[in-house]
Amino acid sequence: MTTVVTARGCPYKCAFCQPLENNHFGKALRRRSVDSVIAELKQIKTLYSPECLMIHDDTFFLQRRWLEEFIEKYPEIGLPFWAAGRADGICKNPDLVKCLVEVGWELISVGFESGSQRILDKLKKGTTIEQNLESAEIIKSTGAKICIDGKGTLSFEQTDDDAGSLVARDRETGTTWNVAGHALAGPLVGTTLSPAPHWNQLFWFSWSTFKPGTRVHQADPA
Ligand code: SF4
Repeated sequence: MTTVVTARGCPYKCAFCQPLENNHFGKALRRRSVDSVIAELKQIKTLYSPECLMIHDDTFFLQRRWLEEFIEKYPEIGLPFWAAGRADGICKNPDLVKCLVEVGWELISVGFESGSQRILDKLKKGTTIEQNLESAEIIKSTGAKICIDGKGTLSFEQTDDDAGSLVARDRETGTTWNVAGHALAGPLVGTTLSPAPHWNQLFWFSWSTFKPGTRVHQADPA
C-alpha cells in the first residue's frame, strides 16, 4: 500500500479537531489538480507497484466537480483505495459515492463519532444520527466496506431490545450487539467483534459483566 494526499485543510468545525487543523494547514481547503495527483500516482505505480492506496486527505469526499474529474481520470490508475468522507456529504451525493466505488473506493472511512445526537452537537460535528444511519445504508448498497472513524474504539452500554433481551449498544455508532458480539441493527449490522485475548477460557463478555473496569493488555511477544 502507498499513500497520497490530494488536499490540505477542512472547512468543518469539529471541536476535537479544530483549531489544530486550521493551525496546521490554514483556514482554506487547498486541493491539488486531478492531473497532478494522477501524474504522481503513475510514478508511484512504476516505482513501487503498490496493490492499494490510501488517500490521506482529512476529508476526501468534498468538492463535487473535483471528484467528477477524478472519477473520469482515475481508472488509468485503477488501484483500490481508502479515503474518508462525512455522513452528511455522503447523504447529499449518493450518486457520486456509487461512481467512486466503481472506480476503486473500496474502503470508506466515515467519522460517525457517536450514536448520541447530544454528543454530536457537543462535538460540533454538524451531522445527525439519521445521517450516520443513512450514509451507512448508502455505502452498504454500493458493496464498499465502511471503516468507522471514531478513534478506533467502541464503548458499550447495556440495554433491552424490543423483545426484552439484553443487548449492548455502542455509543459511537448506535449499533446494537448481542452477547456473542454480532451486530444486530444499526450502521454496523452484519459485522462481528473480534474476540479480545484474555488469561483463560472464560468468555470475555461474562467476565466483563461482573468486572466492567477490567483492562485488557496485549501480551509481549516472547
Ligand atoms: S470533518 Fe474531519 S477533518 Fe474536518 S474538522 Fe471535522 S474531524 Fe476535522
